[in-house]
Amino acid sequence: MVTPQPAIENLVVVGSGPAGYTAALYAARANLNPLLITGYQDGGIAGGQLMTTTHVENFPGFPDGILGPDLMDRMKAQAVRWGTRLIEADAEAIDLSQRPYRLQVEGQTINSHSLIIATGASANRLQIAGEDHFWNKGISACAICDGATPQFRNEQLAVLGGGDSACEEAVYLTKYGSQVHLIVRRQELRASRAMADRVLANPQITVHWNRQIAGFSGNGWLEGVQLLNGEGAVAETLAVRGLFYAIGHTPNTRLLRGQLELDGKGYLLTQPGSPATSREGVYAAGDVADPHWRQAITAAASGCQAALAAERWLSEQNLAVTVERQPVDPVAAELPKETANTTETDFDAEALWQGGSYALRKLYHDSSKPLLVVYTSPSCGPCHVFKPQLKRVLNELEGAAQGVEINLETDPEIATQAGVTGTPTVQLFLQKELKQQWRGVQQRSTVKAAIEALLTQAA
Ligand code: NDP
Repeated sequence: MVTPQPAIENLVVVGSGPAGYTAALYAARANLNPLLITGYQDGGIAGGQLMTTTHVENFPGFPDGILGPDLMDRMKAQAVRWGTRLIEADAEAIDLSQRPYRLQVEGQTINSHSLIIATGASANRLQIAGEDHFWNKGISACAICDGATPQFRNEQLAVLGGGDSACEEAVYLTKYGSQVHLIVRRQELRASRAMADRVLANPQITVHWNRQIAGFSGNGWLEGVQLLNGEGAVAETLAVRGLFYAIGHTPNTRLLRGQLELDGKGYLLTQPGSPATSREGVYAAGDVADPHWRQAITAAASGCQAALAAERWLSEQNLAVTVERQPVDPVAAELPKETANTTETDFDAEALWQGGSYALRKLYHDSSKPLLVVYTSPSCGPCHVFKPQLKRVLNELEGAAQGVEINLETDPEIATQAGVTGTPTVQLFLQKELKQQWRGVQQRSTVKAAIEALLTQAA
């Protein structure tokens, strides 16, 4: 069902974690024709924190667990199936000084009667000397995205933090590292009992209690992490090649400061027992207003509450302009498909997007077009976000450039040769020459401009 953009939206949802997609799903099924601004790079990535998680084992309905990015793909598909319209970009400004409320996104102004703020929270960093120097050269905030990279294979690795994320990441990294050191600042773990037991029972994980990080050493790549003991004295240096932060999050409320009531840590304040914020028609859902529970299921539940509250308020105010759903039962949801590795038999020299080393070799040697080589790993959530944007660029360029996806799990030696240190990494080649490399999610316009510049030069 494609519906036109109204002059004033009934409801705009900002954020695309479990809270945002659930709110949009409920609003769409109430025929409110919601618009959802997914976010892209500001405050984490689209899809939220589950995009950088592996197995989610406590979301009801998935008895054997589900990968975080896969769960988010499903929530997105469900919200879209019922008519949610998406803008896959960051909200640049939110103005609550007058009604209708106004948002700036991708250079356009969107007016809306009501809003649901579901912008979540983003990963904290230590902000100490040396951190920037070794960032992506041994230090990472996402074990799940970067753990599979060749530099970490069979090396000593460390995780900082004592919560569920730290424990989960420590266990995950034992697949790749020879030994994992968990650096915990207190004498106990904050993690749930089940997760803590798993860590403490794992012979590949050594827990360092009462330790803080004082500094880093290395020559171009991280080689050591200096630790302080509980008294603040230098305790030891861990000879690790990788360090993964899992030290909690800060709520994404920068755009709302001075406009909505926040608590001391920046979380949105809501009225007791209600998702209503300090402004009429503006509701909060998920981690942005929840310093306490912070679970996917509690976020989803609060998204539902926020949508129901917004629906009631719009109807009381006589503001809701509902749409008619045609057909009444929407067609089946569409989930993203995995890229299969191309072989000699199914290689297509003109295909826009293929997978694997065979396609890479063929296009690298034989194609005269700009070639995007996209390094991914199976559980890399940011790759889920970035790949559709890259495919969109290639579609817009109508075959003038091509893409090959390399899965680090199945083709690790190619990644080693290419010096790839994490996913997603994108390399842009023209006639066997590396022209540009990007690490992490980028704006679509950045990649498109780089390809267009090569096409202009080549013309
Ligand atoms: P948490 O806030 O729960 O834990 C953060 C950890 O980092 C704490 O141990 C904290 O120490 C430590 N820390 C904070 N700042 C520093 C610092 N400057 N130096 C050293 N250590 C520091 O965050 P999580 O991301 O782990 O979890 C967030 C929420 O998500 C939780 O509710 C958790 O249960 C949930 N979650 C659930 C998962 C699952 O069920 N599969 C997986 C991941 C997360 P201290 O304890 O001393 O404060």
